[in-house]
Amino acid sequence: MSHPVYGRIEGAVVIIGFGSIGKGTLPLIERHFDYDASKLVVIDPDPATHTFLSQHGHRHLQVALTPDNYRKVLGDLLENGGFCVNLSVDTSSLDIMKLCRELGALYIDTVVEPWKGFYFDTADNASRTNYALRQTVRDEAAANPGGSTAVSCCGANPGMVSWFVKEGLLTLSRDLGRNDPVPSDRADWGRLMRDLGVQGVHIAERDTQARRLPRPRDTFVNTWSVEGFISEGFQPAELGWGTFEPWMPANAHRFDTGCQAAIWLERPGAATRVRTWCPTAGPQYGFLVTHNEAVSIADYYTVGPAHAPEYRPTCHYAYHPCDDAVLSLHEMFGSGQVQTTHEILDVDDIVDGIDELGVLLYGHARNAVWYGSRLSNAQARKLAPYQNATGLQVTSAVLAGMVWALENPNAGIVETDEMDHARCLQVQRPYLGPVEAHYTDWTPLDNQSEHFPQALDRDTPWAFRNTLVP
Ligand code: NAD
Repeated sequence: MSHPVYGRIEGAVVIIGFGSIGKGTLPLIERHFDYDASKLVVIDPDPATHTFLSQHGHRHLQVALTPDNYRKVLGDLLENGGFCVNLSVDTSSLDIMKLCRELGALYIDTVVEPWKGFYFDTADNASRTNYALRQTVRDEAAANPGGSTAVSCCGANPGMVSWFVKEGLLTLSRDLGRNDPVPSDRADWGRLMRDLGVQGVHIAERDTQARRLPRPRDTFVNTWSVEGFISEGFQPAELGWGTFEPWMPANAHRFDTGCQAAIWLERPGAATRVRTWCPTAGPQYGFLVTHNEAVSIADYYTVGPAHAPEYRPTCHYAYHPCDDAVLSLHEMFGSGQVQTTHEILDVDDIVDGIDELGVLLYGHARNAVWYGSRLSNAQARKLAPYQNATGLQVTSAVLAGMVWALENPNAGIVETDEMDHARCLQVQRPYLGPVEAHYTDWTPLDNQSEHFPQALDRDTPWAFRNTLVP
């Protein structure tokens, strides 16, 4: 595999957070960019990071960024510009992106992260949603358009899956014999999705990565940030709300301000199950964990005014994490306690499995098509160091977003839906293993047990009423 150098980063390269994603991103930055190595700094409070980085000759600042110190710490490092790559938990994406834009530095993150305390100390559930978090970034983008590029939410999901939605739509268009031209703006993309008859999108993921040893009791095991997953898992379930939906759950709430593209439910996402479909498992349960892309995709493809759309797709995550993480959730919700030990399975722990992450576009003339990456841990090991399949899907999206930002340095604050998906996937694809389209005849009405009747909507197979497991 050749490793093209995509451009030069002038000034400092500042990586915030050196967990599973930061550690996997650093070697990709080394491979694919030209920069002054003496100006690369990693900020992370974890002392273990220090040992690793000093062994590899990298500068480490052992500090936790806080609302009180971030302007000073980052201001000193980025005063002559550069690129800030925010891959930490507990740091405000909005505050840091605003500072970077003031300093003329490029910025990227993988989630709209709040400062420490937000997820569990915010009393009001509506304020704890990703809708609310995302809207703060959208409001800032609208209030201060243009300027230094800050890419918001550019991991695998949110991130890459927005590029998959576009590839999936173009694939569906070809397979339906329509061969629509590639849309050139947001309005045209919305009309294309509408005209193809797509009612909604599941971000449908099945992670089958497993290690040889059974999960020990009182241990939360995952293939990426345990802290990140617990935080989002305890946020209310959220979904982009499509115009075709004939019914809304009794515990659902709308928003009166902002893009109005989504609703939230009065229950934690990681305790809310939905029916979905992935190529390996076929029909499966997934968790309706809230994610930024559920809102951003529903917003981006809206046709007509926000408050009274002519067309909008339903969109939500349907996540089957690795089996150990499913057991970890079960144990956590059952005991009412977060486990004392947290483990992220690394590439060497894992003996088998893939992360199958894609978008299921449903409700059209071919019923449903899943388009996505089926990267195995074994492939990930060969492609890049220090990461499992999940990690590489995320870090290669960060790489693609960084390349796009360098090539478009004055685009203002952008989401991945607004970027050139073809260019980004061109950069990312060598790291994604098989990227495939799979059609299915399955709908959420299939194989529902007659013994446990549920109020199903037989006329609208893909209605959320049928997808949601009561
Ligand atoms: P992790 O838990 O493995 O690592 C987080 C790191 O942040 C740790 O090393 C920790 O010491 C550091 N940190 C904590 N507080 C800090 C602070 N105040 N200042 C600086 N560093 C701090 O997490 P991860 O798996 O590497 O994930 C990192 C981020 O990426 C999380 O926000 C996660 O939600 C996000 N993520 C996004 C995607 C996606 O596809 N969009 C996928 C995976 C992870």
